[in-house]
Amino acid sequence: MSARTGQQYIDGLKERKTEVWIHGEKVEDVTTHPAFKNVVESVAGLYDLQHEKADKMLYTSPTSGKKVGLSFIAPKTKEDLFRRREMHSEWASFSGGMMGRSPDYLNTSVMAFGTASQFFAQAGGGSDQFAKNAVDYYEYARENDLSLTHTLIHPQVNRSKLTQSEQDDPFLSARITKKTSDGIIVNGCRLLATLGGITDELVVFPSTVNRTPGNTDDPYAFAFAIPNNTPGLKFLSRESFDYGKSKWDHPLGARFDEGDAIISFEDVFVPWERVFVCESTDICNRTYNETNAVVHMTHQVVSKHIVKTEFVLGVVLSMMESIGIDKFMHVKEKASEIMIILEVMKSHMFRAEHNAAIDQYGNMTPDFEPLNAARNWFPKMYQRMVEIIKILGASGLMALPTEADFSHDEIGPLIHRYTQGANINGEEKVQLFRLAWDISISAFGNRQSLYEYYFFGDPVRMSNMYYDNFNKQPYKDKVQEFLNRAAKPTIQV
Ligand SMILES: Cc1cc2nc3c(=O)[nH]c(=O)nc-3n(C[C@H](O)[C@H](O)[C@H](O)COP(=O)(O)OP(=O)(O)OC[C@H]3O[C@@H](n4cnc5c(N)ncnc54)[C@H](O)[C@@H]3O)c2cc1C
Repeated sequence: MSARTGQQYIDGLKERKTEVWIHGEKVEDVTTHPAFKNVVESVAGLYDLQHEKADKMLYTSPTSGKKVGLSFIAPKTKEDLFRRREMHSEWASFSGGMMGRSPDYLNTSVMAFGTASQFFAQAGGGSDQFAKNAVDYYEYARENDLSLTHTLIHPQVNRSKLTQSEQDDPFLSARITKKTSDGIIVNGCRLLATLGGITDELVVFPSTVNRTPGNTDDPYAFAFAIPNNTPGLKFLSRESFDYGKSKWDHPLGARFDEGDAIISFEDVFVPWERVFVCESTDICNRTYNETNAVVHMTHQVVSKHIVKTEFVLGVVLSMMESIGIDKFMHVKEKASEIMIILEVMKSHMFRAEHNAAIDQYGNMTPDFEPLNAARNWFPKMYQRMVEIIKILGASGLMALPTEADFSHDEIGPLIHRYTQGANINGEEKVQLFRLAWDISISAFGNRQSLYEYYFFGDPVRMSNMYYDNFNKQPYKDKVQEFLNRAAKPTIQV
């Protein structure tokens, strides 16, 4: 198969019949259920975009010769990286960056695992089987244009206990409960699958940042991929933030609520062909860094962040003009904060791509230093961008009648008149401010803020890792050299 269309993606979901639960009910068909149908339509729109802009979104598969999604490319040149970034940007622009887990995110990681397959050879006690599995899965995902979700995190329960084996119920977090000649059996729970019930397959991987000490957690340390309709697998979704309102009323929530799901494994069988790491805390702790998956994923993330920042900036600038606050000093100062975030993020991307180099697996790999700085910085900056929308929007973010109010014979004309802006009529102004509200205040918007803060891991632990890994010595040496110079007595002749 070559790159899929939206309809093929929808047909795949219908056929797969994943076990998804939401609002106390088992979902018959995610493609028609009110909680999922709009976001399914949006993901289908992404797949269609691949064909509408084929020159930007597709490339020729090295194995089948068919046209496949560019996010799967194993980059060999800087040009490949630029093309992949443009592809990420196209998909991100579709939602103004409001879909964090568009399939390209995980496609880059599957590519990295597949091309760094030798890393996984050590994962099977020297067996090449796991390395072959990583290659096969990459090719399978690429040739079938799979959409993936993933779960990296153990349930919270008691975070003061650093390992899962110390928990009062050591069988709560997903673990291997049996190994057979055919595969492994997994029981327990993992968090948190964004886009969960509306993808084709689930990849269960070690966390990028939550390193586990020792080896007592080996039964919890694995990596595998399985179809979402594997028997025993349940997607337990959170409440939907798509309230069935019109796209005019809820411009983001009614289109892009990706959903987040707890994953339950009940005697889930994973065949050996789908296992990449089995019972090795040490390998799990090293997987993302040593395969460079984290670098390729961050390349997608920063591309998306840039698009999202552009989108928020556009909203803020439009709001400012619409109510005539665009000449006030503090207002311009706040908008300029977002402009600066945008320029800084673009600079990180530029440096990452232009300093890219071929890694040990033959992939052109972006420079991680600027990407790593960006992924540590943006989660905090996004909170500020949302705060700026609130500060500048003020009552306009609450004086928000609905589409139905505007079309009402009696109150429509009143509302139209009362909500007008400086250069914009009432309907246009409310439409713009409803968008700002859906970014900053609605349940959808608040989830976005939480997502941006946490989706790559706990920023506190990330920044501690950043600190620990940063090469600090040159800076201390510079100071010492300066002090040494200053201490030297001047020789009087
Ligand atoms: C909207 C959203 C979508 C997500 N989507 C996905 C997804 O698609 N796939 C996926 O796998 N994951 C996903 N995640 C999970 C995400 O990776 C985690 O939220 C993140 O890694 C933080 O882990 P946690 O939520 O378990 O927080 P916790 O680890 O429980 O942390 C809670 C608080 O306690 C503090 N804390 C806890 N333990 C420690 C410690 N040892 N040292 C210092 N401080 C500590 C943290 O700093 C934090 O403030 C998503 C999360 C959100 C919010």
